[in-house]
Amino acid sequence: MKTPPLIVFTDLDGTLLDHATYDWSPAAPVLQDLIQNDIPVILTSSKTAPEIADLRSAMGLDAYPAICENGAGVMPAGQGAMPERDAYWRLREALDSLPTALRAPYRGFGDMDVEHVASSTGLPLEDAAKAATRAFSEPGLWSGDDQGRADFIAAMAERGVHARDGGRFLTLGWGRRKSDAMAEVLAQYGNPPSIALGDAPNDIEMIEAATHGVIIPNPHRDPLPPLKGEGDGHILREQMPAPNGWANAVSTLMRRYI
Ligand SMILES: [Mg+2]
Repeated sequence: MKTPPLIVFTDLDGTLLDHATYDWSPAAPVLQDLIQNDIPVILTSSKTAPEIADLRSAMGLDAYPAICENGAGVMPAGQGAMPERDAYWRLREALDSLPTALRAPYRGFGDMDVEHVASSTGLPLEDAAKAATRAFSEPGLWSGDDQGRADFIAAMAERGVHARDGGRFLTLGWGRRKSDAMAEVLAQYGNPPSIALGDAPNDIEMIEAATHGVIIPNPHRDPLPPLKGEGDGHILREQMPAPNGWANAVSTLMRRYI
């Protein structure tokens, strides 16, 4: 594969998609420009592969892989191409190997019917089914006490599984973050210069790892703390929220490479 002049990694909600309406139309001409200049755009999201698939097609980005489940895995290029789910089944096996007292209070998406996933996420049924089609990680609800929860996390750690507390969900995975998946995709493309854009704490590592990191302000959440790299100019803080801030930052930075 020929190394491209530049590669773009981007979070979706609140970064490329408007936080409330999910509109990305102001960014469409810039996406078109990137595609025409052979600059891969890698959607990098906490969403699952089935949740990302339609959006990736609508944006004309099926020629590129996407990063799903918060960096837990990579979804292959190609319209409708889905990742293998082995990593997920291994997680479920680790979960089911726990003693009943530890296992019972954890209810993962894989233990729920789609109605329960819908009610616990607030998603409509069809979207909940996509969110529940996991390939690499498992969100779930803990209904036991705090000591049980600590014991559960320790027992999963003995099995190589990391548990991450996202506030509402306790998400099980193999310890990868967005920046790990980013490094994997960068290597596939021969490590070109990169732009990484995001709006939230789970984007910080990829923003810091990129040649050009971009913080997109999200008026619906607390601003990200000052990051190392803002001082020396390798991280920029956009003024406008998504999707206009995304379009502005990317169109400005890409001119240096084409
Ligand atoms: Mg976001």
